[in-house]
Amino acid sequence: MTKDRKALVIGAGPNGLAGAIVLAQAGLTVEVLEAEAIPGGAVRSMPLTLPGFMHDFGSAVFPLGVGSPFFSSLPLQEHGLEWIHSPAPLAHPLDDGTAVLLERDLDAAKARLGHDGEAWAKLMRPFVLHWRAFAAEVLRPAIAIPRHPFLMARFGINALRSAKAIAGRFASDRTRALFAGLAAHSFLALDEPLSGAFGLLMAVPAHAVGWPIARGGSQALTKALCSYLSTLGGKVISSTRVESLDSLSLYDVILCDVTPRQLLALAGTCLSNSYKEQLRHFRYGPGVFKVDYALSAPIPWKSPGCQQAATVHLGGSFEEIAASESAMRKGRHADRPFVLLVQPTLFDPSRAPAGKHIAWAYCHVPNGSTVDMLPNIESQMERFAPGFREIVLARNVLHCADLERMDANLIGGDIGGGSMHLLQILFRPTRRQYATPARNIYMCSASTPPGGGVHGMCGYHAARLALSRLG
Ligand SMILES: Cc1cc2nc3c(=O)[nH]c(=O)nc-3n(C[C@H](O)[C@H](O)[C@H](O)COP(=O)(O)OP(=O)(O)OC[C@H]3O[C@@H](n4cnc5c(N)ncnc54)[C@H](O)[C@@H]3O)c2cc1C
Repeated sequence: MTKDRKALVIGAGPNGLAGAIVLAQAGLTVEVLEAEAIPGGAVRSMPLTLPGFMHDFGSAVFPLGVGSPFFSSLPLQEHGLEWIHSPAPLAHPLDDGTAVLLERDLDAAKARLGHDGEAWAKLMRPFVLHWRAFAAEVLRPAIAIPRHPFLMARFGINALRSAKAIAGRFASDRTRALFAGLAAHSFLALDEPLSGAFGLLMAVPAHAVGWPIARGGSQALTKALCSYLSTLGGKVISSTRVESLDSLSLYDVILCDVTPRQLLALAGTCLSNSYKEQLRHFRYGPGVFKVDYALSAPIPWKSPGCQQAATVHLGGSFEEIAASESAMRKGRHADRPFVLLVQPTLFDPSRAPAGKHIAWAYCHVPNGSTVDMLPNIESQMERFAPGFREIVLARNVLHCADLERMDANLIGGDIGGGSMHLLQILFRPTRRQYATPARNIYMCSASTPPGGGVHGMCGYHAARLALSRLG
């Protein structure tokens, strides 16, 4: 039935590629048009500094990639993808020269967190034990009727709370600091409702599936998706930006891996005025200021524990991270920003010349910020790794506008496809979610449920809806 049906996917980010694969698996003829020279969107690797150093332009660590119900159903390893797990998913250094390590094994984490171990394990265990069910629930529209009501009721009780409230369960400042760093992935202030949910959504996969990096760089995930798509007959055509939907009526399905602002620009006469008005109300989130480093040596951490983890959260105590995120939410720039850092070459030497290293770091800034946060990021680095500046061979800075120039979906440097406040979690980007008023046009980017992160589930759900409507 689907054999003669044609589908177009606009944008080859992980959600566009996931949607394309679902449609091709169903037998549609699928073309993906990608504006940039290489597919992947925010899942690309490129030589941003010196020859021989390969950096991840966007995403670098993939808890939701390895734990994605859809990606984990695909034979991506046969198409070159290899996940690498560092001994611990995460390290969080403190001013006393030690680091809190988040162990992957929940019992080991319980032992490591001392007095707070029991409280940590009690909070995480139900979701870790039932990860597959939990992931399928949280990586789909939040308004869907839960298939595991008891599990989701348990999550809901915590999810609506702030990170501050959840961290109140922990006696030690060390555990509170660890949880602050996890919750700060939300781009919310840590006393805002829902910020606690993001802490859980980062911690649970750390124990259930790990926080791996991709051997060779994040491009390996994109390459594997494109390669598998090609075995299904799908084609990705790069360097081709779609400017308008008006001339595309011959396609039975069009999936748009773009955000509302871009859909408005593409819409022409295809979408109703009232729907366009709803898209105009979509709110974008804060941006990021990113820097990639080529290094002559591993980072000289004060705490040796930091060498055990690919991801390191720099920000010190709960209060300090809360102050950093609160400043960003109020449109200001923190003097001591919370910095997310990834050091892939400790575990994957293939990305730099022998003996040399790379590092990837960013901090949160107000959307569209033009402020140079490099001195602030580097003083946080020096605080926990004295002598860091001396090992820098080259650095490449990406302001919000640079990110958007290199991937049109990163509006004002927003890496999550739009703000994650309650209303926009429930109705993303509008009440119609993936659907639009046009019979054959769907949205499938991180601006649809479940939102940002590399999991492909926005594309998966959008494509499934399109297929169900094709009959
Ligand atoms: C700096 C940074 C760090 C991140 N870190 C992580 C991380 O460690 N882990 C994680 O899980 N997530 C991370 N993310 C978030 C994650 O990468 C995104 O949420 C995810 O890539 C969203 O996928 P997408 O397919 O919706 O959009 P994108 O990946 O942005 O892809 C959209 C694609 O559509 C193309 N496009 C847009 N308009 C058009 C057009 N008109 N015609 C043709 N093509 C078009 C773009 O060029 C792009 O290739 C990070 C993102 C960034 C930027």
